[in-house]
Amino acid sequence: MKNNRLTTLLITSLVLGAFNQASTAEDKDNTWLHCGQVIDTEEGAVLGQRFIQISGNTIAAVTKQKPNTDDIINLSKKTCLPGLMDMHVHLESEMNPKSYIEGFTLNPADLVLRAQHFGMKTLLAGFTTVRNPGDTANVTIALRNAVNQGIVDGPRIYSAGKSIATTGGHADPTNGTNAKLMGDPGPKQGVINSTDDAKKAVRQRYKEGADFIKITATGGVLSLAKSGQNPQFTDEEVKAVIDIANDYGMHVAAHAHGSEGMLRAIKAGITTIEHGTYMTEEVMKAMKKHGTYYVPTIIAGKFVGEKAEVDGFFPEIVRPKARAVGPQIQKTFAKAYDYGIKIAFGTDSGVSAHGDNAKEFQYMVEAGMPAMEAIQSATITTAKLLDNDKIGVIKPGNLADIIAVDGNPVKDIKLLQDVKFIMKDGKVYKQ
Ligand SMILES: [Zn+2]
Repeated sequence: MKNNRLTTLLITSLVLGAFNQASTAEDKDNTWLHCGQVIDTEEGAVLGQRFIQISGNTIAAVTKQKPNTDDIINLSKKTCLPGLMDMHVHLESEMNPKSYIEGFTLNPADLVLRAQHFGMKTLLAGFTTVRNPGDTANVTIALRNAVNQGIVDGPRIYSAGKSIATTGGHADPTNGTNAKLMGDPGPKQGVINSTDDAKKAVRQRYKEGADFIKITATGGVLSLAKSGQNPQFTDEEVKAVIDIANDYGMHVAAHAHGSEGMLRAIKAGITTIEHGTYMTEEVMKAMKKHGTYYVPTIIAGKFVGEKAEVDGFFPEIVRPKARAVGPQIQKTFAKAYDYGIKIAFGTDSGVSAHGDNAKEFQYMVEAGMPAMEAIQSATITTAKLLDNDKIGVIKPGNLADIIAVDGNPVKDIKLLQDVKFIMKDGKVYKQ
């Protein structure tokens, strides 16, 4: 017994020794970036040449003077900006004609491997932080922890764990299955039918390590159910979810297509409306009054609209919903922008392909948002939404999440689809 313990201690110190050596070699103090231009996301301005000092995982200094060192990464022909953030990704999967069958064939271990793979695709597209509103078996909570512990690489993840739904609602995990498999999932599985259930479901997510809560306030396009927009929570249920989540320091995101479900969620104090497809003027007025964020996911609308025309891609019950919702989201985005709603960047990637996230910027600009504001929606606005003041701005003291593109993305937003340099937490992932 004693010998075993001694061996364990020896092995532990050997492993730790090796680890320490590796990390000192890696976090070189005084690495500098030489940026041709820098986007100031706080002021909405493009600044000229800047030298950025990286110390460990932190931005130590931003200066105009060339430092007296050879340890400089040359980005002098590029524009540097903070790592991008996507407030709506589902890292565990990517929509394909087999997706509905995969629910029966894949295990959580399969999903977590996919999540790591798709997480890397996202990071290598320049997105250093993501919010994952809804997963299976808490795979993105496990991935978040492994990334934070340095076991695997990936973006910084905020995870909701399992989405909270109502019986038969969007994200009820047994929709569309036969009676034998259907069972009766309850709050532990993220399905509620009362305010008591709501409390239990939120506390269960907290216990499992969720960072925030996601509810499905209305029907959805991809679930095996008829309505894509009916309200699916009562006023009391949605309020119970939000009150309890706030007690635990978590915000609540609401998937919503129909206006009645949106209104109930907004009045109860929801933080974000996801998709927002059939947003009316009454909804926009309420959002403005309550300071609710809108996470548009235009690219997901375009993807489902396109695939609805492909025979066999979606089950027949999904096709009419996808056809109706698909083309609508970009129009809604244009209205919401004109109305002055706070917009936080989000794609619903996992519907569309992971790594294509930056196409959303192009769709936002097409719909009337200036490029600088689109960039701010994925940096400073998302940092505020996540209540994290260490990301979203390149300034001393912040985390060293920095990307660079050729040319000026404020003049050509498509440049963000081809990110040339990526650093997250002071570590270079692409150069
Ligand atoms: Zn989603």
